Amino acid sequence: MRYSNLFGKTLRDFPKDEVSVNAKYLLRAGFIDKLMAGSFTLLPLGFRVVEKIKQIIRDEMDATGANEMLMPLLHPKEIWNETGRWETAKGIMFQLKKDNKEYGLSFTHEEIVMDLIRKRTQSFKDFPIKIYHFSTKFRDEPRAKSGILRGREFIMKDLYSAHTSKEDMEKYYWEVAKAYIKTFKRMGLNAKIVEAAGGVFTDAHTHEFQVLCEQGEDTIYYCDSCDFAQNKEIFEGKGGKPCPKCKKGKIIEAKAIEVGNIFPLGTMYSEKMHFHFTDRNGSKKPVVLASYGIGPTRLLGTLVEVFHDDKGIIWPKSVAPYGAHLISINSNEKADSVYRALEKEGIEVLYDDRETGAGEKFADADLIGIPVRLVVSPKTENRIEYKERGSEKIELLPLEDVLKKLK
Ligand code: ATP
Ligand code: MG
Repeated sequence: MRYSNLFGKTLRDFPKDEVSVNAKYLLRAGFIDKLMAGSFTLLPLGFRVVEKIKQIIRDEMDATGANEMLMPLLHPKEIWNETGRWETAKGIMFQLKKDNKEYGLSFTHEEIVMDLIRKRTQSFKDFPIKIYHFSTKFRDEPRAKSGILRGREFIMKDLYSAHTSKEDMEKYYWEVAKAYIKTFKRMGLNAKIVEAAGGVFTDAHTHEFQVLCEQGEDTIYYCDSCDFAQNKEIFEGKGGKPCPKCKKGKIIEAKAIEVGNIFPLGTMYSEKMHFHFTDRNGSKKPVVLASYGIGPTRLLGTLVEVFHDDKGIIWPKSVAPYGAHLISINSNEKADSVYRALEKEGIEVLYDDRETGAGEKFADADLIGIPVRLVVSPKTENRIEYKERGSEKIELLPLEDVLKKLK
């Protein structure tokens, strides 16, 4: 992509009411635009990162045997009434009326999934079911200072699984938990599995995937030696004390960002929505449901909170919008041929071909945060200057070596 052709360039001025690092850098660097509080456009650069995040999630969900599909966002009130959530979720759900009919905008999909299952299954042979989609969620969140970490409209991957027994659900539940840890690791993030209360979803404990980060809205308590971790909402104790589980380690109190959450919902939805499958002996039983969310747009912000310095963003390779940022300094002819050679090898390149000063191009490259910067100038002769965003080391390499490093 030629930078001259890219919509959404770096900004000198940006909305000053956004105080979080993620919003400041994403707005300034041209990854997102703000429409109103909690509502953002993913500009081409931000869209590319979110697509890469989604592809990693998709790979890992598909590896558990889950099916991707797409469900509607405009829901009839009647379905939400079946579980009572039309009333109990009023604070969070956007509800609207048109021609005397009432609708809710999707803030989650349990009821819609249960309705689908009830229409399309009958016997124990139809289970387990593992279905997911990526789609927009609308939530009337209280106005927060977290930038894209807390939107009123955001993208979620939500997976739902339905089983004929609690044991079968639990087995898949922990398989997904493992897939989540792998998913976040592939993006460079170490997430902790943290026990939490179920909130409006379930009375059982749920599990959150928390990334340690000073800017996080959550407070968690975890053991420095075993895997014990609980959210502040349910933890009874204090930081600095011995771990209640292993008795050896010490409890650490820390701020964290919740990037995912899984819920062992049980039979409540099936019972309230009057769906029962026929088991092996011909008797009717409720299905056991679980749901599993990840926020790709929250991850976009989390990655910036975790990976940045005072000059800008430092994207991990796996989610960077481009693999290389090529800068031409008064050498467009030479740089054009390097650009073509890189593209021919399938390397994704952002090519700054503008007639702008070198200082501005370097500052923009640091702000945008693509992992590798390549410079072609009269000084580099028939070589290319190669520098990684996270390092100060600069090498002067022939094209073949640059290609080898980028592959
Ligand atoms: P939180 O406690 O932060 O409000 P939640 O428990 O309400 O999150 P879930 O309903 O479990 O979140 O949603 C699943 C995932 O969707 C979350 O783990 C998070 O990654 C993402 N998510 C939730 N709310 C938002 C939001 N307002 N903006 C962006 N992403 C969100
Ligand atoms: Mg919430």
